[in-house]
Amino acid sequence: MDPEVVVIGGGPAGSTVSTLLAKQGIAVQLFERERFPRFHIGESLIPETYWVLKQLDMLPKMHASHFVKKYSVQFVNSEGRESAPFYFWDNKPHECSQTWQVVRSEFDMMMLDNAREHGVDVHEGVRVHDVLFEGDRAVGVKIRDEQGFREIRAKVVVDASGQNGLLMNRLGLRVWDPILNKGAIWTYWENAYRDTGRDEGATLVIQNGNKQGWFWYIPQHDNIVSIGVVAPFDYLFKGRNNYAQTYEEEVELCPGVKQRVAKAKKVTGYFATKDYSYRSTRVAGDGWVLVGDAFGFLDPLYSSGVLLALKSGQLASEAIIDGLSRNDTSEAQLGKWGTVFNEGVDRMRRLVCEYYSGFSFGRMIREYPELRGTLTDLLIGDLFHNGTDKVWGPLESLYEEGKPSIPQWNAGTAASQATDKESLLVLPEGRRR
Ligand SMILES: Cc1cc2nc3c(=O)[nH]c(=O)nc-3n(C[C@H](O)[C@H](O)[C@H](O)COP(=O)(O)OP(=O)(O)OC[C@H]3O[C@@H](n4cnc5c(N)ncnc54)[C@H](O)[C@@H]3O)c2cc1C
Repeated sequence: MDPEVVVIGGGPAGSTVSTLLAKQGIAVQLFERERFPRFHIGESLIPETYWVLKQLDMLPKMHASHFVKKYSVQFVNSEGRESAPFYFWDNKPHECSQTWQVVRSEFDMMMLDNAREHGVDVHEGVRVHDVLFEGDRAVGVKIRDEQGFREIRAKVVVDASGQNGLLMNRLGLRVWDPILNKGAIWTYWENAYRDTGRDEGATLVIQNGNKQGWFWYIPQHDNIVSIGVVAPFDYLFKGRNNYAQTYEEEVELCPGVKQRVAKAKKVTGYFATKDYSYRSTRVAGDGWVLVGDAFGFLDPLYSSGVLLALKSGQLASEAIIDGLSRNDTSEAQLGKWGTVFNEGVDRMRRLVCEYYSGFSFGRMIREYPELRGTLTDLLIGDLFHNGTDKVWGPLESLYEEGKPSIPQWNAGTAASQATDKESLLVLPEGRRR
């Protein structure tokens, strides 16, 4: 029997939307082209994921897991000097202020298994080849499984296919961010430096020596630390050697990383990706809706990707549940959450762009200590209301005379620049992505 909703992709966004639909008794089929566990980057969660994880009944599983607990984020400048940590608990003394550093193959499998436990009909190793349309309305998907090509009809198709962006590509909706065109190279280290106590699981954002980019430093379980460099795409990949050499050159340039890995050894090969931020001009259409990276991807500076996947999955599920109950699966109904969501992404994007144009958290806190809590609210991902907007004025007051402020960018109003660029993914030199 055909389901009411089909979901394409079993990453965090697909698992979230499908679980929340199934919890309301809606028949959902989810198709994931890989077999889990599969490798994925995106390992540091931020505290606002707590509320969606709670709704998904995932919290007991997270508490029982061996994922490293994360209580803060800390910034290290190009000379290796550390800012005071931003402790989430000091800002909000609530269980939600402790989050996790996850290994995504394990976390994503837990989420997908959780979807199954809640009644989602999950099919792994099944690729969705196309979305079926009648006029402008999506009416199902074309899959390929062991029986060959088949069509599955549904009232709503949710695209959660990640950076592949099945529908975004097909409909020409992808708009590349004109500023955030970065690349990333990363690998995994054993025995790298770890702080102790509540600092052990902190994410560090470490600026490299020539200020061309930054490293993420994410302590994981089993004494592994994920360390990756993010920098302008041309700087990182054009006229440079292989990933290994480029990475080593960047470590050499970065005192904050070099000293932390002095006694460590690498335990995998190197991975790389183009890290171009983008968004879709539309969040939904008649019979279809986009969630997670299939809607948009934002530079990983503040580790917001999984939160945005979970949050969009949650908001989309509410619109679908409401729409199905009233037999309304129009674009207006399925996309009613788009404005609030886009505004939240805009806030995070603005903070990302400020960092790249030289914004210093340390200086901001020194000049405006009363805004420390509001800045922490942004860092934990409390993005979907205007309560944090009071930081922008003081933040702009720190600009040197004559320095232009960050250009605003709104995918919804920009002309679609979707191209036939191949997938954003670059083949890793280590393992398969
Ligand atoms: C370098 C880098 C660092 C990052 N660091 C962080 C971080 O520290 N913290 C954080 O929160 N986020 C981070 N992110 C972002 C994070 O990885 C993503 O935002 C997150 O994985 C999005 O989840 P998703 O479910 O939308 O997509 P994915 O997790 O990509 O899931 C999509 C799924 O769809 C499947 N699929 C694709 N096409 C099809 C098809 N045609 N048929 C069936 N299945 C299909 C794929 O196999 C995949 O399993 C980072 C990203 C990058 C690139």
